[in-house]
Amino acid sequence: MMPLQETTQGIYPPDWFRYLDTFSSMLKSRLLTHRPFFLAHAMTYGCNSRCQSCTYWKNISRMKEDLNTEEVFQLLDEAYDAGMRGYYMFGGEPLIRRDIGKIVDYAKEKGFVTVMNTNGSVMEQKAQELRNLDFAFVSVDYHNEYDDIIRGRAGTFREVMRGIEAIRKTGDTKVALVTTVSTLNFETIIPMAQLAQQLGVGISYNSIEQSLDFGLTSEETTPNFDIGLSPEKLQEFYETLLKVKRVGYPLMETELVLRHFVEGRRWKCHFPKMFVYVTPDKKIYNCDYAYHYDLKKGTFDEYFSGPTFQDYVKEAESCNKCIRTCVRGYSYTYNMFPRQIYGLAGEGRQLFNHIQ
Ligand code: SF4
Ligand code: SF4
Repeated sequence: MMPLQETTQGIYPPDWFRYLDTFSSMLKSRLLTHRPFFLAHAMTYGCNSRCQSCTYWKNISRMKEDLNTEEVFQLLDEAYDAGMRGYYMFGGEPLIRRDIGKIVDYAKEKGFVTVMNTNGSVMEQKAQELRNLDFAFVSVDYHNEYDDIIRGRAGTFREVMRGIEAIRKTGDTKVALVTTVSTLNFETIIPMAQLAQQLGVGISYNSIEQSLDFGLTSEETTPNFDIGLSPEKLQEFYETLLKVKRVGYPLMETELVLRHFVEGRRWKCHFPKMFVYVTPDKKIYNCDYAYHYDLKKGTFDEYFSGPTFQDYVKEAESCNKCIRTCVRGYSYTYNMFPRQIYGLAGEGRQLFNHIQ
């Protein structure tokens, strides 16, 4: 039976239990089922930003297709029953949902570790509602107000800084910055690491690659590759991250992952066995944005036992297409590479906001 404890926020499974249970679900996936243990839910088609790197916000007219509160609860029940223990919320922008607090509370009560990727612009106003959120990954693409221009929304940078302060004061949410690097902000890599250090939070970097040509299902949902990094710039990106890491800035990427990118090593991707991506209207899609399965007409179990999922898993293992440091890091963790696990023990300090 799941242990429960009474807190000022309500009655929930204790943190140690949820983290241990999530770790066990990963082990179970690794050793037995080879099925995802993290539900990655794009919670809405809506967004209040207009980032130059993204075209997702053009889908706002589709917000009427977003699942309602009860339907999200049902999705969480189904995911839990299918063995998932992590709930990763993203969008669009999850914080524009009026029921976001209720959903986070429900997920925590159920026993999920709760993680959100947010643009942070309304985090200050929603800090109370987010008191049960375990991790907030906040997108910031520049170390000063120029961020407003990249993100297409005046005032964003200041709002995000106030939001980070508010959420850390209100509850126990751990915060990390996420910076997407393109030709618009390449020069911000080091200043962003300095900003993270000043704030006492971790930072992770993504990049947009010029030549990346997957994800062509719809022009409206795929990133803007015109501002992507050329292969030479991408190499410089990884080299810079490795240097920044080595001088002690709070990067959440492990040194092993960065070094392997710099050296151009091949690797085995386990991403499909770790995360299942679900659209705001409950369809499963894969890492290149191709739709795979309609969960309104079936179940996770049916999808995971079917040929589409099995083929996806097999193809991923030799794919090597991905430039995302996080995906490679997750795969190394899933593989239980000793140096990755050792590195993660250090990165945990950053994630848990205990930076010295
Ligand atoms: S990157 Fe995120 S915050 Fe920016 S427009 Fe796209 S969905 Fe919105
Ligand atoms: S390496 Fe390939 S299969 Fe794995 S996440 Fe990246 S694009 Fe998908």
